[in-house]
Amino acid sequence: MTKKDTAIGYEVVIGLEIHAQMSTATKMFCGCTTKFGGQPNTHTCPVCIGMPGVLPVMNKRALEFTIKAGLAANCQISRYSRFARKNYFYPDLPKGYQISQYELPICVGGSVVITTEDGEKTIGLTRIHMEEDAGKNIHEGNANYSQVDLNRAGVPLMEIVTEPDIRNPKEAAAFMRKIRSILRYLEVCDGNMEEGSLRCDANVSLRPFGEKALGTKTEVKNINSFRFVEKALEYEIKRQEKVLNSGGVITQETRLWDPSAGVTQSMRSKEEAHDYRYFPEPDLVPIAVTDDFIEELKTSMPELPDVLKGRFVDVYNLPQYDADILTSDKQLAFFFEEAVRDGANPKAASNWIMGELMRLLNEKAITIEDVRVRPSDLVGLIRLIDDGTISVKIAKVVFEEMFNTGKPAQEVVKDKGLVQISDEGHLEQTIVDIIAKNPAEAGRYKAGETKLAGFFVGEVMKATKGKANPKLVNEILRKKL
Ligand SMILES: [Zn+2]
Repeated sequence: MTKKDTAIGYEVVIGLEIHAQMSTATKMFCGCTTKFGGQPNTHTCPVCIGMPGVLPVMNKRALEFTIKAGLAANCQISRYSRFARKNYFYPDLPKGYQISQYELPICVGGSVVITTEDGEKTIGLTRIHMEEDAGKNIHEGNANYSQVDLNRAGVPLMEIVTEPDIRNPKEAAAFMRKIRSILRYLEVCDGNMEEGSLRCDANVSLRPFGEKALGTKTEVKNINSFRFVEKALEYEIKRQEKVLNSGGVITQETRLWDPSAGVTQSMRSKEEAHDYRYFPEPDLVPIAVTDDFIEELKTSMPELPDVLKGRFVDVYNLPQYDADILTSDKQLAFFFEEAVRDGANPKAASNWIMGELMRLLNEKAITIEDVRVRPSDLVGLIRLIDDGTISVKIAKVVFEEMFNTGKPAQEVVKDKGLVQISDEGHLEQTIVDIIAKNPAEAGRYKAGETKLAGFFVGEVMKATKGKANPKLVNEILRKKL
């Protein structure tokens, strides 16, 4: 990135730590459910509420999920890794420590490709490790005391840590989107950001252009949407720039993003690793992973978005832009591919999915999993356009009805009487009537004002409720005028 690409006089350096809640049925070190919600403190047992004398047992599924994520991000999978205690005191952490990984994480290195306005960019990863989530403090509703809900305590997380390769808030959001997409393809995290299944902490610092050493960074905590990651970073970059330009120094600290006020606020001075007094977790054996185990996981992995995108471009001749959007979500990609397999023209299917389908999904706030239109129904709709039964304009009306009712295109067209009028005799009569009713316009048209053709087409469409075959209307009009 060059200086002219940024509005500010400094180079921005961003690194992300993404916490992804794994879609395991049970917690990281006990058999309690990971289900979201529930009455406070009902998804708990002596292990996850930190009673003395209990022993944790690792959830093997969580290990598999983290290795799959590591393989998808080209990480080295450690054949030998272990858990560590991260000691700190907070009311939502009854043990007084969180079980995490420190000097020997399960996945090391790796990279993820994101799409930016300037093309593709590779973001390096430092590591991916496993850890347990903490509980939740509840401060709402009363000023005199706080409550603690430990349902979330011990839920398995993977923490994905990037190198400081990100240069602006948009790239940060693109990275978060890509990670969500990959984890959802792998079915290791549901990516539900409202429920906190995917959240991110961002480290950000500024340095003069050309400077090698990193500036002092701040960490912005607990960002839980793509929009907020951009907003929080934009705010924090401007704030740091102001401090630096006025001759001040940046304090290394943890700041909290306040979405309603649109600002970051100082929370506490940033801890260094030594503040946590990490040491190997004595209650858990180290994790030894064999090559066979890794191979087995590899073969169970689905086609990933980058591979799928390449295939959509090569095999279906789709533009990069289309392929990027269609493969951003596994179910969307499946929908597209099934429609094509059922006989749809790939570009036509892509247009309908990226256009009307995604518009309606957004508008009704539902996901592709819950959509009632089947890929074969989209094929049916495209066929009705191709054989001239309905116009594209009417097809949009039909599609919305299909979307709302789950009925196939044929049935909607029949029920609503939307078949395109291609009966020449019928159209001719309509046109003759319209010309007779508008003698002034007809006269001007005949005198050379040909742009009035649009007026007549409009009148015919009005008379036929948009069902007239536009090609035929134009032909007959030219003959009759
Ligand atoms: Zn438990």
